[in-house]
Amino acid sequence: MVTLSTDVLVIGGGATGAGVAWDATLRGLDIVLADRHDLAQGTSGRFHGLLHSGGRYAVKDPRAAEECIGENRIIRRVAADSVEDTGGFFVTTPYDDPAYADKFIAGCQATGVDCEEITPAQALREEPRLNPRISRAFRVPDASIDVWKTVWALGHGAQQRGARILPYHEAVAIHRQGDEVTGARLRDVRTGEETEVEARVTVNATGAWAGQVADMAGIEGVRVLPGRGIMIAMNHRLVNTVVNRCQMPTDGDIIVPIRTVSVVGTTDQLTEDPDDHTVLQGDVDAMLNDGEKLVPGFRQARALRVWTGVRPLFEDAKASETETRDVTRAHALLDHAQRDGVGRFFTITGGKLTTFRLMAEETVDAVCRSLGEQRDCLTRTEPLPGSESGTTYRLGERLAHKEENLAGEQVICECELVTRRRLEEAFARFHTTNLDDIRRQLRLGMGPCQGGFCIYRATGVLHSLDGLSAQRADSSLLAFLQERWKGTWPVLYGDQLRQARLDDWIFQSVLDVEHLPG
Ligand SMILES: Cc1cc2nc3c(=O)[nH]c(=O)nc-3n(C[C@H](O)[C@H](O)[C@H](O)COP(=O)(O)OP(=O)(O)OC[C@H]3O[C@@H](n4cnc5c(N)ncnc54)[C@H](O)[C@@H]3O)c2cc1C
Repeated sequence: MVTLSTDVLVIGGGATGAGVAWDATLRGLDIVLADRHDLAQGTSGRFHGLLHSGGRYAVKDPRAAEECIGENRIIRRVAADSVEDTGGFFVTTPYDDPAYADKFIAGCQATGVDCEEITPAQALREEPRLNPRISRAFRVPDASIDVWKTVWALGHGAQQRGARILPYHEAVAIHRQGDEVTGARLRDVRTGEETEVEARVTVNATGAWAGQVADMAGIEGVRVLPGRGIMIAMNHRLVNTVVNRCQMPTDGDIIVPIRTVSVVGTTDQLTEDPDDHTVLQGDVDAMLNDGEKLVPGFRQARALRVWTGVRPLFEDAKASETETRDVTRAHALLDHAQRDGVGRFFTITGGKLTTFRLMAEETVDAVCRSLGEQRDCLTRTEPLPGSESGTTYRLGERLAHKEENLAGEQVICECELVTRRRLEEAFARFHTTNLDDIRRQLRLGMGPCQGGFCIYRATGVLHSLDGLSAQRADSSLLAFLQERWKGTWPVLYGDQLRQARLDDWIFQSVLDVEHLPG
């Protein structure tokens, strides 16, 4: 069995864990980061895509609003390549309490969230599909953020500074010697091989799973309520600005334009199991109806897919058994030496994706204090790899790049303009033959055909790579199709249903995929 020694073992490779790894390596600490899946496949990869301005929390949770606006300004600079500066609107629709708008302005002023009232006519000029019956409109600095780009940039940045990043490595035991945690045993979920990690400090950054990992260390009572929410991606950008209903936060009140799609969300229901991704048909219908309130005709657009994520909500005195929206959105950093008498072990959970950097900073500050070392945080100013220019992402960048060399490169995925060269580079760079891992890197198969026209081409490219058998290429294709189907079938209607039938003919009738030697 391999044994690794390190300063800090980070368990959990979502935005928070990857943020801790990046922060700690910038401070000169040696890091091992492990996730049981690929990076950002937990809640971070299943979120709504919004870099909050803080407007959403301005009335209800002023502390969260202040944190969001502070981090929004920093993330735009240091992770510029992942952020699209869409801007945001809060609009009062006929379904909203008109009195809330004045509370909203006061809340924004009190918390420092930039907010400008504009006329409904101006909002409609900028977003012609918005409900024409809006009575008030406010502009805020919301933005959309590509989480896979962000988390992998954090991971690569840390790797370049010597961190060992271990996706598909699950922590199966946390080691204790007396009243101290000394490391963990990791199991490679693909091969079953085990690795021992000896660490000066262990950080539990497993989000909604943090209670389970704390349990492994013999620490009871770390209760993280998984609050499940669903989101639906609609084909095309129905809006180019993040649009929020101007009301107390509730279900289905935000549409986020992200890359080539727009995403409506979300719900918030208590669930027992953070791995429960059940999609309820009633929620799908309610979400599409909510979309109609902001953008009339929403239902006529093609719904591409639906997915769920679970909020890591650390329980406080306000927790109730049935409703999770009132549990604090603020994060919780637990120093288990102080809380439970178990040294060299920290849990960081809760919060939002928007505040991952702040959560990481506070965690690594605490780690350094426990090591008795003074090391300053650099993540406020140090750009992530790819964001050095400070220029935010622009929709159309890929197309502009492709147009420079129209005939030169073979396009594998037309919807997301993924070329053969990029695909081959990604297979080599990430040492993976898993098409779903590649999807998250390149957005392969994420457009309207949901892989219908590109995924068998990509499989062919995979097969043509040295040493990959037809069998392994086929099983990767099947796994990809099965994963896509999970998110497609609950929203099949209209044109997307026709698309799904066409995809089915291609895969079942032409390729007979189910009988490939996988
Ligand atoms: C529906 C929904 C919409 C949201 N929308 C937004 C939004 O628009 N904007 C925003 O700012 N925030 C949003 N959030 C909140 C945000 O997504 C989360 O707060 C954030 O992603 C949590 O990141 P994390 O790294 O702490 O957790 P995660 O991303 O869940 O990472 C935890 C990781 O731990 C790993 N893990 C678990 N157990 C083990 C183990 N034993 N060994 C190894 N690894 C393990 C998991 O695989 C996972 O990758 C949303 C949340 C939900 C649910």
